[in-house]
Amino acid sequence: MSRQLNVRNPRTGKIDFHINAADAAEIGEAANRLRLAQAEWRDRSLEDRSAALAKLANTLTEAKPEIAKALEADTGRRRIAAMEVDGVVGSIHGWIAQAPHLLPEGWTDGRMNPAIRHAPQFVPYALVGVISPWNFPMTLSMIDTIPALLAGCAVMIKPSEVTPRFAAPFLSAIEAAGLSDVLTIVQGDGATGAALIESVDAVCFTGSVATGRKVAAGAAARMIPAFLELGGKDPLIVLADADVEQATNAALRGSVLSTGQACQSIERIYVQQPLLERFLQRLVEKAGAARLNWPDITVGEIGPIIFDRQAAILEDHITDARNNGARVLTGGEIETHGGGLWLRPTVIADVTQDMKVMREETFGPIMAVMGFSDEEEAVRLANDTEYGLSAAVFAGSIERAEAIGRRIDAGAVSLNDAALTALFHEAEKHSFKLSGLGGSRMGPAGFQRFLRRKALIANTGAPAPLGAFAEDAV
Ligand code: NAD
Repeated sequence: MSRQLNVRNPRTGKIDFHINAADAAEIGEAANRLRLAQAEWRDRSLEDRSAALAKLANTLTEAKPEIAKALEADTGRRRIAAMEVDGVVGSIHGWIAQAPHLLPEGWTDGRMNPAIRHAPQFVPYALVGVISPWNFPMTLSMIDTIPALLAGCAVMIKPSEVTPRFAAPFLSAIEAAGLSDVLTIVQGDGATGAALIESVDAVCFTGSVATGRKVAAGAAARMIPAFLELGGKDPLIVLADADVEQATNAALRGSVLSTGQACQSIERIYVQQPLLERFLQRLVEKAGAARLNWPDITVGEIGPIIFDRQAAILEDHITDARNNGARVLTGGEIETHGGGLWLRPTVIADVTQDMKVMREETFGPIMAVMGFSDEEEAVRLANDTEYGLSAAVFAGSIERAEAIGRRIDAGAVSLNDAALTALFHEAEKHSFKLSGLGGSRMGPAGFQRFLRRKALIANTGAPAPLGAFAEDAV
């Protein structure tokens, strides 16, 4: 019996949607169906699979109004909802263009014995499970799905139970493209996600570290790979010779875009002392000018807090900072409008490294700013974290920023900007420390990791007889 789950609307606070959580039996049936179809999908040429995905790009474009509307209800924001659909369409075309160039072909002679040659074969995992979070419901459901499908896998997606509305119009577009045999969406919560891990051959998970640990354990028990993209506590280092206008623009956008509900959001800002006062002054001015997208969703930069329980975490981090001597220079109060929860861009000064706002993932529009004296101290503070998703450095020149960026223990470092991994998907990057596990989801590895390498090893000469290994062989 499937369970019904209530879904809250982030703009009204009302329960206005329900989903039926798929149980293990339903997931098992879907997995069998997908696996059967995958054999044919795998045997098609890359060109054929590319053509099928190009069709999906078309049906998604046609269904954009309905999908974007559903995503808007899921997330309480309009422009980013539309951008999510456009981004997926763009990503399909990008992977179609790139994929034919990513795999080596042909035979290679052996080094030790040239008569023994080898050729690679690339064998896709039959069924990939994708478990996604609520902050970018469609983007993060498709980011691994597209290369997995192109590689020849079938895919089962389980979106977050917090933002499930986009799935129905999205499924219609999948059906219209003729792809439902190899791509489906199952609805549900953590129990559904756990059941999905029992049915797939590889799992791609985007979400929190706490859940990531459970996913990793479930995958380990089944001995299947888990590609984990988890939380972050990204630092931004601003050197004294940085352009303060550009640095504050990047800091604000990198911290509060999507209301800070992005894994690659800047969560800690370290500014070299001579620039600190001026930086704070301009950051506060710019933060204060940002508008809520309430009551009119067509204006403003700051959407509602999507997941109501997140508001309690933001409040806790702000209170902890205040209680320990930090100063909130702007923002700082959770506001209720029309039943939804909002937080204006919040600048906090005089923070210390031991505060929650500097140690735990905040996932909101909060800019905690701390001064430093020299580059050694900046690198030490930036690396003093359990996370290693990404980071940013702003300096008077790219060369100075690069010198520091090379010393930061994180998978991607934006130089003279912030959070560039949200805008640029071509560079391979790992998630360091607690921020993740598995190959890069971006760049060539994002496709290659769905293909197991199989070696075909051919002896063009005569097989060696057993006697060649006899103790008394000469
Ligand atoms: P979450 O971990 O609570 O949930 C993520 C998904 O896991 C949901 O679909 C949920 O239903 C499912 N789930 C819950 N328990 C499960 C279980 N036991 N087994 C299998 N699946 C289970 O994360 P969230 O709150 O939805 O998302 C926010 C988090 O995601 C933040 O920590 C953020 O940093 C992270 N995130 C990371 C990236 C990245 O690329 N590194 C991108 C976006 C978000």
